[in-house]
Amino acid sequence: MTDTVTDSLLDFGDPADLERLRRDFRTWLADHPLPERCADEPVPVFLHRWHRLLHSGGWVGLDVPREYGGRGLTALHQVAISDELGARGAPGVPRIGYLAHALLEFGSEEQRARLLPRMLSGDDVWCQGFSEPGAGSDLAAMATYAERGPDGRYTITGQKLWTSYAQHSDFCLLLARTERTGAPHASISAFVLPLDRPGVTVRPLRAANGDDEFCELFLDAVRLEEAERIGAEGDGWPLAMTTVSYERNALDTGHLSKYGLLIERLRRRAHEHRESLPDGLLSEIGRCVVDYQVLVAHARRRTAERLAGQAAGPESSVDKLLMTRAEQRLYETALKVFPEELYGEGGEVFGDYLYSRAASVYGGTSQIQRNIIAKRLLGLPGDGRR
Ligand SMILES: Cc1cc2nc3c(=O)[nH]c(=O)nc-3n(C[C@H](O)[C@H](O)[C@H](O)COP(=O)(O)OP(=O)(O)OC[C@H]3O[C@@H](n4cnc5c(N)ncnc54)[C@H](O)[C@@H]3O)c2cc1C
Repeated sequence: MTDTVTDSLLDFGDPADLERLRRDFRTWLADHPLPERCADEPVPVFLHRWHRLLHSGGWVGLDVPREYGGRGLTALHQVAISDELGARGAPGVPRIGYLAHALLEFGSEEQRARLLPRMLSGDDVWCQGFSEPGAGSDLAAMATYAERGPDGRYTITGQKLWTSYAQHSDFCLLLARTERTGAPHASISAFVLPLDRPGVTVRPLRAANGDDEFCELFLDAVRLEEAERIGAEGDGWPLAMTTVSYERNALDTGHLSKYGLLIERLRRRAHEHRESLPDGLLSEIGRCVVDYQVLVAHARRRTAERLAGQAAGPESSVDKLLMTRAEQRLYETALKVFPEELYGEGGEVFGDYLYSRAASVYGGTSQIQRNIIAKRLLGLPGDGRR
């Protein structure tokens, strides 16, 4: 077993160059340990401190061009940093890569230059306003409407739901309909919504496990300038597809190396307590190891494709499905093998187990990923629904 996942990916880049980057990062980490989370400090506030610290060292947005505040390196460099963090069980790099990609691909030059450096530094915190009470999987059914006036300005009215951490955010990447009729995929547009704009109300929702990740976002005749639209009218759909395809990648988030740590613990336990493990548990551990290795092999291929310039595209649904399967089985098995972690200090595995249940929902449900794979990758006929 290698120390870090991307050791096995080095043959895609210049090994000496990547090794230098890893060494520099390890040196920096030794001088800048993970800050302690204060009592009662909300998770996103703690993660924001971590974000700013990483950015101060130049470790955020490595693959974003220099003129927009990044380092102009490749996706592999960013992946190597995520991997180093995951392998230490540290929180990953801030989850802004997919929003940055949306701005890079669809934003105007002025928007990229103004918004990206502040997004990367953490000066501005962003959230994602796509889902609505009547539009989750069927995003095209969204009802939030942006009416364009004769002066070109928009008046936006509607409601968003499940907007993660909007209460801690400055901007929202918002989708709204700019035509009431017509093909839904051509009538949705994207906007940069400052959350302090008059008419915006953010209402946090308390989840059953006590978390307050989710918010409702109410938009009551919110005025936006034409320059706050991202891309052309109707670009909202391709922008959303780009955003979610980059949201579905296990490598970017350091998840793979984090899973790797737990896989190693499971393997050790299986070797040391082979005789005493309950029936069936050994083969469950085996399945976890296989899922993990399939995911690593798949990530290898996807990394090679990215470095060759291929966009994330519908293949990212395979990434998401494999990641969800590996993660859910891993934490389910880990709780059986280490039941003490249910009640242990911090209950880290239990917390991860609970959150893994959401993996088959956020960023598009597993059923929707299968639909995308069936239609867009395998070319199977649809059932008449989108
Ligand atoms: C942790 C978490 C964070 C999130 N953060 C955000 C965020 O920041 N911003 C944001 O905009 N959204 C966010 N979401 C919302 C998420 O994108 C939606 O929950 C998801 O797209 C599913 O939509 P829904 O909840 O409305 O379920 P529904 O679309 O109502 O689906 C209900 C069930 O029906 C199934 N189903 C629906 N349509 C089909 C079909 N055509 N074929 C087969 N099965 C189908 C689904 O798979 C699901 O099992 C988040 C969700 C979670 C869990």
